[in-house]
Amino acid sequence: MPQKPLRVVIAQMKHETNTFSPVPTPLSRFATGQAEPYRGDEVARAFKGTNSGVAAFLDLAEEAGAEIVTPIAASARPSGPVQSDAYQAMSDAICAAVSQGCDACLLDLHGAMVTEDHEDGEGTLLARIRQIAPDLPIAVALDMHTNLYPAMIANCTTLAGFQTYPHIDNYETAIRAGRPLFAMLRGEVKPTIAWGQKPMLPHVMCQGTGRFPNKDLQERTRQMEQEPDVLSATLFVGFPHADISQAGLSAVVVTDNNPEKAERYTQELLEFAWKHRAAWVYQIEPLEQSLARAASVTEGPVILLDHYDNAASGGTMDTMTVLGAILDAGLEDVAAYAIYDPRAVAEMIAAGIGNEVTVSLGGKMSMPSLGLQGQPRQVTGRVKLIHDGRYRNQGPASTGVLFDQGPTVVLDTGKVEIVVISRQNEPNDEQAFRALGIDPTRKKFLMLKSRVHFRAGFEAMAKEIIECAGTGVCTSDYSQLKFENVRRPIYPLDEM
Ligand SMILES: [Zn+2]
Repeated sequence: MPQKPLRVVIAQMKHETNTFSPVPTPLSRFATGQAEPYRGDEVARAFKGTNSGVAAFLDLAEEAGAEIVTPIAASARPSGPVQSDAYQAMSDAICAAVSQGCDACLLDLHGAMVTEDHEDGEGTLLARIRQIAPDLPIAVALDMHTNLYPAMIANCTTLAGFQTYPHIDNYETAIRAGRPLFAMLRGEVKPTIAWGQKPMLPHVMCQGTGRFPNKDLQERTRQMEQEPDVLSATLFVGFPHADISQAGLSAVVVTDNNPEKAERYTQELLEFAWKHRAAWVYQIEPLEQSLARAASVTEGPVILLDHYDNAASGGTMDTMTVLGAILDAGLEDVAAYAIYDPRAVAEMIAAGIGNEVTVSLGGKMSMPSLGLQGQPRQVTGRVKLIHDGRYRNQGPASTGVLFDQGPTVVLDTGKVEIVVISRQNEPNDEQAFRALGIDPTRKKFLMLKSRVHFRAGFEAMAKEIIECAGTGVCTSDYSQLKFENVRRPIYPLDEM
């Protein structure tokens, strides 16, 4: 008798929520290149062959000869809490697919989703799935910026998070989460999870895996995974711009039926991170000082990093502090990515290519969490290019994945080429410029609204990286943020 094929549900629901961000998060934000998130056959069409968690899950399921069901793939750029109806629609789609019966569920999640109703969007979803199917094997792939909640651990079977930041191991992470699940279905392993956390909020600017201590920690997780009974080892740095009880650093180790080792390795990772907690604290340089340094550099490209307003951490991407200082300083041969301003884009499209315009640029969004009003700036320049805003990453980050920054205009002031976009989008790939006819390697300065992800696409070409303290809801100055819900004491908000 031939065996009935496995029925496997594969879905994606990704959002990193900045609870300080005024940027709204409706369902449409989870769509790329179309009005709604991908559903059904669209999912494989969008992701097959790309560097993504969904692609890895699809490959694993195919390898197992499974029947694959893909109810939804939804991924939004970081922003404020996910609107209730959007969360409901996405979790309903996944739960409906599970309700129809399946042998396994593979989920590509972020791990820091806060909704209007839940601090823990992922744990809430997983608990609901387990209510429908109490014994269902579930594998979860997560971002390194997961803020881990007990419900996430209690309601999954295997789990793995990124080991790189900038994140370039999306595919491998899902393989690390999914492969043990299929091994379990074949009766080869028995996954056992241990996890823990430390009361600390590592600074995002200090989280890159090119630097101590995260470099060492991630190397150690890979080393642990070399052991045959360690199925996955993950150190989550956490996402600090979320004022929720469990924000911060955590670790998870999944072993093959070795709970003692899972626990011991989890504690080892946590102790190392805690021991070096001072190394996760960021020192801020005043903006005037940064720009004075920039003016004295002779060879480009020099990256001017507007790290207080990073779209991939929930920034409005429309604050003008750093770009304004660049214009005031008269820096030349600059390309700036990017200012989010759909209204200015529409005005410039109406003006037409080649024509001079004066627009009130950026500063359209207020930031109540910081007590700040938006501050636009009058900018005059020539409409150099109009573009639909879609491009695919060349890699190494999200290779082949479609990005959608909405209708886009390049505004050329003569000294600065400003990319103005209609959907927030972090520059983590050369294509962010190249798709618009700008060769970033030939520019003296690149202003990037980013913090760490730009390194994937731009670090190798950069002669120097100058971090510029501007304005925004992913401020690098924690003292500007009012934390009310995170558990206390927590380092470095409290002396510990
Ligand atoms: Zn992340």
